[in-house]
Amino acid sequence: MLKEGVHDCLAQHKPVLLAEPLSLLVDPPCTVRVSIGPVLASSPKSRGAVLVLSDVTALVIAEAQLHHQATHDPLTGLPNRTLIQDRLQQLLAASQRRGDGVGVLFIDLDRFKRINDGAGHPIGDQVLRTVGLRLQALCRAEDTVGRWGGDEFVILLSGDNLGENCQLVARKLIGEISELIMVERVSYHLGASIGIALAPDDASNAEDLIRLADLAMYRAKKAGGDSFAFASPDMNRSSSQRLEIEVSLRQALLQCEFEVYYQPQFAIGQQQLTGLEALIRWNRPGIGLTPPDEFIPIAEDSGLINEIGRWVLNEVGRQLREWLDAGCVVVPVAVNVSARQCQDFKLVDEIRSLLARHAIPARLLEIEITETAAVQNMEHMTNLLGQLSGLGVKLAIDDFGTGYSSLGHLKCLPISVLKIDKSFVSGTPGNHEDCSISRATIALAHSLGMKVVAEGVENEQQRAFLDAEACDIAQGYLFSKPIQAAGIVSLFLKAAGNAGKGSIDEGP
Ligand code: C2E
Ligand code: MG
Ligand code: MG
Repeated sequence: MLKEGVHDCLAQHKPVLLAEPLSLLVDPPCTVRVSIGPVLASSPKSRGAVLVLSDVTALVIAEAQLHHQATHDPLTGLPNRTLIQDRLQQLLAASQRRGDGVGVLFIDLDRFKRINDGAGHPIGDQVLRTVGLRLQALCRAEDTVGRWGGDEFVILLSGDNLGENCQLVARKLIGEISELIMVERVSYHLGASIGIALAPDDASNAEDLIRLADLAMYRAKKAGGDSFAFASPDMNRSSSQRLEIEVSLRQALLQCEFEVYYQPQFAIGQQQLTGLEALIRWNRPGIGLTPPDEFIPIAEDSGLINEIGRWVLNEVGRQLREWLDAGCVVVPVAVNVSARQCQDFKLVDEIRSLLARHAIPARLLEIEITETAAVQNMEHMTNLLGQLSGLGVKLAIDDFGTGYSSLGHLKCLPISVLKIDKSFVSGTPGNHEDCSISRATIALAHSLGMKVVAEGVENEQQRAFLDAEACDIAQGYLFSKPIQAAGIVSLFLKAAGNAGKGSIDEGP
């Protein structure tokens, strides 16, 4: 740059100011601005240039500091909102060129407000700094870890296999943040709720991705905290679309537009029918069969889940009675129950009266509660689940592994069945980590006297791996998709005649 400047100055006989300051290799380091002036003389031999160097080191440092201040959070030193958005835009552009993806993790600390209000802001600040350091320590140098504001942090990841990677990072983060934080010889215990949104699947612009990750975080928090949630298709809907679904859901209850499908479960070794899971479907006029993931979250948010859940329980009770009356050798039916239905003890009364009304043996009903709901309010849940198990119904923990509770948390609950989430099963036998988690879950569940159901078994390799690991029961497309009640009777007949595998092709 200097050579060119001198050349321009001599050629044009004009002063030149170098556009960029130069760093001089001296000790201490020094930055100078350079202006070059021509020395005019009659003979070309005596022509030359004068270089004037002005020391701008302090100015450059001040500028860099200003830039840093504008783009970093003063408390933690992490990138702030502006820089996070900027980096996300750059990552999105780069990933579009490469054809891979970008993941946004939106992290909100659980119980931080209590510490900040109770112990005071200086302690709260220390806690936030420690969290910032822990987050950074967990991520790679090329990942962005930033503070969004308050007790919210954002992490940006890019590359292949993003869904799995984000899940892995989220799990590690929750573990890391839940480790006690010591400030001035007092230890504090925090948790984290994390929402994950992925580009290009969930959205392809920075603003929408952060909004979706934030919404997913809110859902993780509502499910009890200390957990993560992925953005789901229903979040992408505008609030007016959600409202429309909510209104249609009310209508659906009145017009009987719901139907229960049943997915069989088989003993993993002998492939003998051992149970059914009841899964709701919505026959939406003009739209068709709508899966629960598209409306259950809206029903949960609006509180309609209580009525829908009651309808499902009743329908399953009615169906069980019909099968019993037809002389079928009936197996237990598992019904999914949302966290919101567990908030009070009404559920116990409802199930008690349901069993009495249809004269159904309690052992034929199983209640599935997600892991996150089960550990949400341990004291209340211990009480509620105790009462339910007192009725004689079996209790199962659904989606185990997604909520980051340890089995230790669950051992005081009267649970007899543990369902390994399909996100782990799908990784077996190829993914080392999924295999280890599945293996450990089976061993621990057995040591606590629980039976283990593997969800989402789709191929023979997965079944064989789980069988070898002594998993008890399998449920998944390898055996059957969820099917209408009418299709179940032939399964009962087969089971009664011990006619083997019972594979069904039909289903939504
Ligand atoms: P879940 O309780 O974990 O149910 C298992 C889900 O995995 C079902 O999705 C089932 O169709 C699906 N599945 C089973 N085998 C396979 C497989 O091999 N591969 C794949 N890819 N998927 C498989 P579905 O029926 O769409 O239900 C989704 C979720 O909606 C359920 O997850 C449950 O959390 C919720 N849900 C369903 N019915 C009810 C209900 O009556 N009440 C409540 N509260 N939630 C419900
Ligand atoms: Mg379930
Ligand atoms: Mg499940």
